[in-house]
Amino acid sequence: MSNWPDWLPLRPDLKGLTPYGAPQIKEVTALNTNENPFPLPDKVVKEILDAITVEASNLNRYPDRDALELREALANYINQENKSEFKSQNIWVANGSNEILQTLALAFGSRGAIGFTPSYSMHPLIAKVCGVNWVEGARKTDFSIDSESAAKQISELKPSLVFVTTPNNPTGNAVDISLLKQLAAVAKSVNALLVIDEAYEEFSSIDSSVSLLKEFENVVVVRTMSKAFALAGARVGYLVANPIIVDAALITRLPYHLSWQTQAIAKVALSNYQMLQSEVNLIISERNRVASELRSLGLKVIESEANFLLFTGFSGDEKSVWEQLLKDKVLIRDVGIPGYLRVTIGTPNENDQFLAALARHRP
Ligand code: PMP
Repeated sequence: MSNWPDWLPLRPDLKGLTPYGAPQIKEVTALNTNENPFPLPDKVVKEILDAITVEASNLNRYPDRDALELREALANYINQENKSEFKSQNIWVANGSNEILQTLALAFGSRGAIGFTPSYSMHPLIAKVCGVNWVEGARKTDFSIDSESAAKQISELKPSLVFVTTPNNPTGNAVDISLLKQLAAVAKSVNALLVIDEAYEEFSSIDSSVSLLKEFENVVVVRTMSKAFALAGARVGYLVANPIIVDAALITRLPYHLSWQTQAIAKVALSNYQMLQSEVNLIISERNRVASELRSLGLKVIESEANFLLFTGFSGDEKSVWEQLLKDKVLIRDVGIPGYLRVTIGTPNENDQFLAALARHRP
């Protein structure tokens, strides 16, 4: 909205912004927000209900404001996956990784932030809402990050925050660990934090960048339970970083921000992570199948390490293809890149619906 009434004391720098709003449409096959298509297995649902029954008798009390048990469980999960030795002091946890990103912007945004677009659209929005100056760095036309130009932009701008998403949303491609090292070093030289957003890491064949923390005290890895753990509705995101970064970020947290029930649900999901991982494997194999079927339809698909695919090469513009698919009750995402559309990997049946609808509408 741009015509705010004069009497409304809205911050001038917010007046031109619009809230995040991916469509939520009922009774369609929703392949537009990179959710995990599989509901939690019955066993996990039952354990969650049992845990919540226990917590319900505690609801008169504020939750553990430091979420210590959950942070320890997250550290254990990261350690098992990466042969690392993180402790709860290396972890902070909040209502989705969006809240983690906001905490970072509030605590560390004083000299502005840079990200390399196209990337996650909330990075600039969160920065701006927190009053952090946002600079848009560029990617190459194949959506990879140009190491020299990125390093130059960081050195010249001297921001306090550098955002890199890997695997990247909306493009799906991952950033090589050697490039992340270079960026961490340049960021360090200007006293910036390198924030590596790994929301889709579990779908990737490339190792997590948490290994960089040994060498670089200025690296913050942001993760979520919304995707691989199928917990988008529970809202749990976390960061892995040097404990001093966690201590400083805590200055900006709201007291008792993470409810008892959220903490309980996350702990149950973490204790079942091997069972949930089998669904991640199925999503990866479906991603590879959908990519090859799209290619056999003559489309170009960006190599993806995530649970979605960005594709191009259809005739007609992306808006009309998007609309035609919606008429067939398949909702995908127009991410604002001319000529491209993004589809989230669904269940095998949902993927078939998408492929059939696309094949029907391809002139
Ligand atoms: N980072 C990236 C790259 C994302 O794509 C998303 C969600 N789509 C998030 C962070 C935020 O996820 P959540 O708040 O559900 O943890």
